[in-house]
Order: sequence, then structure tokens, then C-alpha cells
Amino acid sequence: MKAIIHAVIFTVDAQDTVIKDGMLLIEKDSIRYVGTTDESLIPNNAEIVDCAGKFAILPGLIDTHNHSSLIRGVAENLSLVDWLPVYDLEHRSCTPEDCLHAYRLGYLECVLNGTTTVQDMHRHMDQAALVAGQMGLRVFLAPYAADVDPYNFFETSDGNERLIKEWHGTFDGRVQVEAGIEDVFYSSEGMYRRALEMHDMYGVRIHTHGPEHAEEELTAQARFGMSITQLLSRRGLLGDYLSLGHCVPISRNDMDLIAESGTSICHCPVSAAKLGCGTADVKAMEEAGINVSLGSDGPIDNNSMDLFQEMKVASLMQKVRYADATIFDATHMLRMATINGARALGMDHAIGSLEAGKKADLIMVDLDKPSLRPVCWNNDHDDTNLIWALVFAMQGSYVDTVIIDGMTVVENGTLKTMDQSMIINEAQMQGEQWMRRRNALLPHTLQPIRN
Ligand SMILES: [Zn+2]
Repeated sequence: MKAIIHAVIFTVDAQDTVIKDGMLLIEKDSIRYVGTTDESLIPNNAEIVDCAGKFAILPGLIDTHNHSSLIRGVAENLSLVDWLPVYDLEHRSCTPEDCLHAYRLGYLECVLNGTTTVQDMHRHMDQAALVAGQMGLRVFLAPYAADVDPYNFFETSDGNERLIKEWHGTFDGRVQVEAGIEDVFYSSEGMYRRALEMHDMYGVRIHTHGPEHAEEELTAQARFGMSITQLLSRRGLLGDYLSLGHCVPISRNDMDLIAESGTSICHCPVSAAKLGCGTADVKAMEEAGINVSLGSDGPIDNNSMDLFQEMKVASLMQKVRYADATIFDATHMLRMATINGARALGMDHAIGSLEAGKKADLIMVDLDKPSLRPVCWNNDHDDTNLIWALVFAMQGSYVDTVIIDGMTVVENGTLKTMDQSMIINEAQMQGEQWMRRRNALLPHTLQPIRN
């Protein structure tokens, strides 16, 4: 049993309860108690961590759309449709060894920034399962599956099924495998059928890309005579087992289709801005009844994986879009990065908030940072300005401790479960090799998909 006492706890429960002098009891992988510090409740043999009011505890952040990579900063200043063929080069040149180091480096960046669960879509995902298992991260693995010529160098449905059989539910359930599909231009109708079959047969979830850029919607109209969302609906994919990345240029009708089906949207505001996709209308999505979570979209699209930044940008983009300062407050954003992410993964019964009986997936933030002080309280309620600092003035590097499934993965801002400097050094060497192989393909870049 571990007892963390005298901490400011943001529970993200249904009432967004904040506890000024909070205590959390952890037994094995689960939270046994969350409430006011009461030392009489602590068992004799418990390990006690006294935060002395200098740490805030939040649920671990959930990155619901990510693409691991060792390649970043080399596909810049490009609109999505021109960016995709450049991005494809890394897939045409990648090996299982490249991916191993991409998962190590990426998951290291995620946990150091306070992310405890990642929904990742990439290649050779046996390596992802191994790395997440060893490092201690919780992952949902959706292979990049595509079969339409000339994109048939990605993963296959057969490979996806094998991955499910080998890895789904391993490492005490921390490693979950999904049916993954690239998108409607890269993946044939048959792949969507196979994904649904895998969902039926193994009970796995499905993750794929919704529309990102208006140009894709124009191409879909020309090619399929309907919007991407309508096509996904026609192919039977929409449902509460599905989460869709992006969904920037979607109509109100498309939002209604998504809402009625219980599908979640993984909103990636930094990536959407960077790739010239625009601002997703998250306010309208939520008003339609859609669960919207947050995603970083990974190192090549973003270029960082710090969900604290993502919360701030996501809020500011809605305030700008609507010229309304009163929407998307800090509490709302923390929900998007935690419990909404859990819901998008069908895991809100187990993670995404700090409540007795849930998994112990949590982070401790060091409050002795200039941008987080002074902390003030309205003493009539447990009401504090700190939530605004944590969402609008925070950096992932202020995260001191990360606990996932009851296991301490990061302590004093350093990875405990693997050798952090070894991961960085080896990623540097492997990344240089991968980049050389990728650059050799540059003269053979595919043509952008355009209407
Ligand atoms: Zn994506």
C-alpha cells in the first residue's frame, strides 16, 4: 500500500472535485481511497509520500491520437495533402528496428510529459507492445493498415489480426491492440470489413482517420459521391467502439452521424494548425453530443508530444474561432485530456479520473515552478486558481512522478523502468540511419492525392 498525503488533488470526477489537502491510497494497481488527508486511514505498513502541499496530483493524461516516429522536423511548411507523400517516405523506408527505437523515444517523451496512455498508430507494432510493456506505459495499438496501390507498403489486415492474437490484453491488460485502418484513400472497402470482423471476433476497438483537410472532402465527393463520414457510415464502421482522428472539415450532418453512433473524435489542434487544415469546430461537436478527446498526432505532425500544450492550444483555438472568451475553460480542457480520452478508448470505467476502485494512473506535478505560483484558494470552497496555471502556464517537464497501473514509471522527472540516456543515444544513431534510407527515396516521392 502506498499513501500519498498532503497533495492538491484534481480528481476529474463527475463534479470535478478538487481536494486542497488530499490523500490517495494505492493498493497494487488500484486506487483505494481519494479524499482529505486522514492519517488514521493509513495502514501501518504503508509507504508514505508526504507532498507537504507542494505537489498537485492529476489523472494521467491520455493521448488518443499519436504516430510514433524517429523522424521530425523534415516535412515542414507543407499543407496536409502535400505533406502525406513526404510522410509516406518514412513508411517506405522503415524497419522493425527503426520502429523499436521510435517507440522507445516516443513513449519516453510521453511519460516524461505526464501522458500515461497513448493510442498509437504506426508500423511493426510488436515492437510497440514490447516497449510499452517494458516501460510501463498503457497503450492502444492500431496498426497503419492500407492496401490500395501504391500504398500497399503499410500493414495488412492479416498482420493486424496476428498482432491481436499475440499481444491484445498482455502486460496485465496495459497493452491493448485494435483494428487500425489508415483512411478511405489508402484502405479498401475489404479492409473495413476485416476491421469489423476483428471487432466482432476479438472484442477489439477500431481506430482510423476521419477527414483532416477540406481538400480530402472534395476528393471524397468526386471519388465516392459522398463525404468521408458518410462513406464510413455506409461501410458500417461508425459505433461506440470507434474513435476517429482529426475530423476537421465535417458538416453538421456528419457530426449528427458521428454523435448518433457513439463514435468519439480525437481532436489534434496543433497538427490541424500546422498542416493548414484549420480549426475543428469542437464546440459544435460537443453540442451535437460527441465525446471529444485530445491527441498530439506525434512528432512529425506536431512536433512535440506535450498534452499540456495541446490543452492550451485547443482552448485558445475555440476561443478564437468563436471570438468568445467564456468557452473551453481550464476544467473543461483537463476533462478533454483525461476522462474524455478514457471514454474514447472505452476505458472510462477504469482510467481518466481519480476515484476509488479505478486504476492508479496518475501524475504528480511539482508546484515550485515560477509559472505555477502563487497558488490561491477561495476558502469557502475547494476552489483554486491552480487549475488555470496547470492548463495555461504548465510544461510537461514540471511532471515529477508518473504512476501507471500502480507502478512508479517516472520519479524526480526521470524514467525509472528503463535507461533513459541509453534510449536517447540509441534513438539518435538509429534515427540517422533511418533518415538516410528515407532521403534516398526523396526523388521517388509519390504524387499527392488531389481531386
Ligand atoms: Zn493521424
